[in-house]
Amino acid sequence: MIQLYIPLNFLGTLYREIKQSLTDLDRMFVLMDQQREVADAPAAQPLALQAEPELRFDDVHFAYHPDRPILQGLSFVVPAGKTVAVVGPSGAGKSTLARLIFRFYDVQSGAIRIAGQDIRDLTQDSLRRAIGIVPQDTVLFNDTIAYNIAYGRPGASQEEIVQAAQAARIHAMIAASPEGYATRVGERGLKLSGGEKQRVAIARTLLKNPPILIFDEATSALDSANERAIQQELQKAAQGKTTLVIAHRLSTVVDAHEILVMDAGRIVERGTHAQLLALGARYASMWALQRNQAQQ
Ligand code: ATP
Repeated sequence: MIQLYIPLNFLGTLYREIKQSLTDLDRMFVLMDQQREVADAPAAQPLALQAEPELRFDDVHFAYHPDRPILQGLSFVVPAGKTVAVVGPSGAGKSTLARLIFRFYDVQSGAIRIAGQDIRDLTQDSLRRAIGIVPQDTVLFNDTIAYNIAYGRPGASQEEIVQAAQAARIHAMIAASPEGYATRVGERGLKLSGGEKQRVAIARTLLKNPPILIFDEATSALDSANERAIQQELQKAAQGKTTLVIAHRLSTVVDAHEILVMDAGRIVERGTHAQLLALGARYASMWALQRNQAQQ
């Protein structure tokens, strides 16, 4: 029994970590099928997709544990093909939004709708196929770099993989390593920095080409050249897609259709960059603070 218990326990821990960082879910779900927290409703239907679906939160309440509410009545819309950004202090509940959209957990009350359909009425498979997530920390498989990129769309051709890597600006680095795309990733192979891993995640998402994108911007600082390059790629990938950006750097959100400022599970301010600056409150002081830090 002990022998069985240890690996299962380990897998459970791994699963929780992966769920927390929103990575490489499908493979883990296969492994951990019995541990899913949400199940398809008996009459679940596949998501009926327009090219650019609207994403809507209607009065969403959520708690990981019943005695500690995390989201307290959140309502917002990401219009079809537009980008909405979420900012706010650590622990405000920003990443929780992404976990709920992907339906790792179900909301306690209210609803999340995609193209007008409550995501609890959809098959999880169709829901997850429609969403691409670039997480804060990308977990890579101990396999070739080509496999890691193609993970976004199994069966992708070598040419498609190279195109995605080029668009995510990671091709040059791969091409420079002795075995190119056949180089293994990991301890004894290609070691990737945080920024490079995030570019692999972008390449995956570009290959997957889903109508809904979620970017959970890395909290850890990248060097500014890396950061600018990644931001440009993200912006390109987001064009014409329904996109939610969870941002830590305000420079990412300036062009968003709407910016939501969250604190303690509530939206405390909302508007465009210009509107929020004119308001002269929370967002405006966050902006001033980041500008000062950047100038130091
Ligand atoms: P950051 O900017 O630091 O990433 P965030 O705004 O994204 O923060 P969340 O990760 O959404 O914050 O977390 C919101 C709250 O929920 C935090 O207080 C966190 O401790 C709690 N929380 C997050 N994940 C879990 C979990 N799996 N179980 C219990 N509580 C959790």
